[in-house]
Amino acid sequence: MENSIHEIKTQIPEIGEKMHELMVELFPICRSITGNGLRKTLTILKKHIPLDVFEVPTKTKVFDWEIPREWNINDAFIKNSKGEKIVDFKKSNLHVLNYSIPVNKKISLDELKSHLYSFPEYPDVIPYRTSYYNENWGFCITHNQLLQLEEDLYEVFIDSTLEDGSLSYGEYLIKGKSENEVLLSCYPCHPSMCNDNLSGVVLLTLLAKHLKKLSLQYSYRFLFIPETIGAITWLSRNEHSVVKIKHGLVVGCVGDPGISTYKKSRQGNAEIDRTVIEVLKNSGDEYKITDFVPKGSDERQFCSPGFNLPIGSLQRTIPPDFPEYHTSADNTEFVKAEYLADSFSKYFKVILKLEENFGKFNSKNNKEETHEVDNKNVQFFLNLNPKCEPMLAKAGLYRKIGGTRYNDATSILWILNYSDGKHSLQDISLLSGVDFKQIKQAAELLQEKKLLKQML
Ligand code: ZN
Repeated sequence: MENSIHEIKTQIPEIGEKMHELMVELFPICRSITGNGLRKTLTILKKHIPLDVFEVPTKTKVFDWEIPREWNINDAFIKNSKGEKIVDFKKSNLHVLNYSIPVNKKISLDELKSHLYSFPEYPDVIPYRTSYYNENWGFCITHNQLLQLEEDLYEVFIDSTLEDGSLSYGEYLIKGKSENEVLLSCYPCHPSMCNDNLSGVVLLTLLAKHLKKLSLQYSYRFLFIPETIGAITWLSRNEHSVVKIKHGLVVGCVGDPGISTYKKSRQGNAEIDRTVIEVLKNSGDEYKITDFVPKGSDERQFCSPGFNLPIGSLQRTIPPDFPEYHTSADNTEFVKAEYLADSFSKYFKVILKLEENFGKFNSKNNKEETHEVDNKNVQFFLNLNPKCEPMLAKAGLYRKIGGTRYNDATSILWILNYSDGKHSLQDISLLSGVDFKQIKQAAELLQEKKLLKQML
C-alpha cells in the first residue's frame, strides 16, 4: 500500500500530462446533456476505467423533472447571399445554441439578429449558450463579427434532431473494505470547453484509474453525469442508498491558473470540509475557502435540503470568475498539465487523509452550522420539493437561455435551499446578501406556484 501511494505521488507530473492528453482527445466532441457526443465521451473514458453506462429514457420522471428528448447534431452554418459560409459549426461547435431545433431557411439580417448570441464584454470570443427546456434555435458568434454583419438575405441551416431517446451517464464504483462511500462527481456535458468542464472529467478518470490500485477503507463512487438533470436523475434512482455517502466532492474547474478554492458543503463543518481545509492549509500554497451558496454546479442538488449531503467542491477559480468561462477561450491552451497535476495532487491528499481518519469520527461531529433566531415575528417557510431543485422553467421561474453569467433566479434558489424549517426569510436574506424585500417577493411567488408553504 505504502509503495503504491509513493509510486502515485512520484508520477503526478506525468499524470498531469496524461490528463491533458485525454482532454485534447475529448475536446472536439460536441456534447450536451443528452445525445451521441455525451455517449462518445463515456465510450472514450471506458478505455481508461470500467464505467457502467446507464441510459434513462425520455419522459422518465425524476423528482419534479422529466428526462428531456435527446438532442443530436450533424452540421450547421450561416451563409450570406454570395453563398459564403460566415459561421460554420465544423469550425467550432460553440457556434450553435446547444439544443437548437432544426432550421433551413433564408431570412433578413433583422430576423437573424434575434437568433444570435454574442458577448460584448469579450468581443473576440464565441460564447456558449443553451436552450435545453425552451424550443429555440440560434447561433453564437463573436461580438466583433456581429457588429460587422450587413443587410443581406442569410441562409440559416441547422441539421439537428430532437427526439425521444435517452439520457446517458457513467458510474464506476471502487469497492473498499467498508460499504461507506465517498462520492466524486463531474459533468461531461459541455461542448468544446476545458476548465469547465473537461478538467473535472479527466481528473476523475485518472484518479479512479490510480485509486483502484490501492487497498482502501472507503468505497469510492465516481459519477460522470450531465449537469443538473443528470444529478437529479442519479439522486432519484439512488434515493435510498445515499445514506452510504459519508463524504463527497463535485469536481470541475480544476485546470486554470488560479489558486485552489474550496466551496464548503451546506453542512459547513462536515468531515470533508475539515479535511479539505486541512490539506489546503498544509499545501503551503495560497488558497481560498468560501461558504456554501445554492449556485454553481451539482452541489445544488446534492445539498438540496431534502438530501443535505456532506458534499463540497474543490476547484481552482470558481465560475464565473475567470473571463474564459463559457466561451471559446476556455480551450486546451488555457488549461495546462501543471495545473491539472496540482489539482490531482490535492484531491489525492484529501483521499489519503479521509482514509487515515476512517472510523475516527462519528456523524455527531458533522454538526450543521445553524443560526439562532429568537425573534417571534420571523417567518419560516418549507420547501415543498426539498429533494433537488424543482423544475423552475416549468413554473416559468427560470431564464430561457442558459450558459450566461447572470442568474435571475438567485433569490428563488436561496429560498428553496434554506426553507427547511430552520432558516427564516430574514436568515435567508442575511445569508444571501439579497435585500429582504426581494426575498419576500420571491417567497410570495413561490407560494403562488405551490413550491413553498408558510409554517404555522
Ligand atoms: Zn458550465
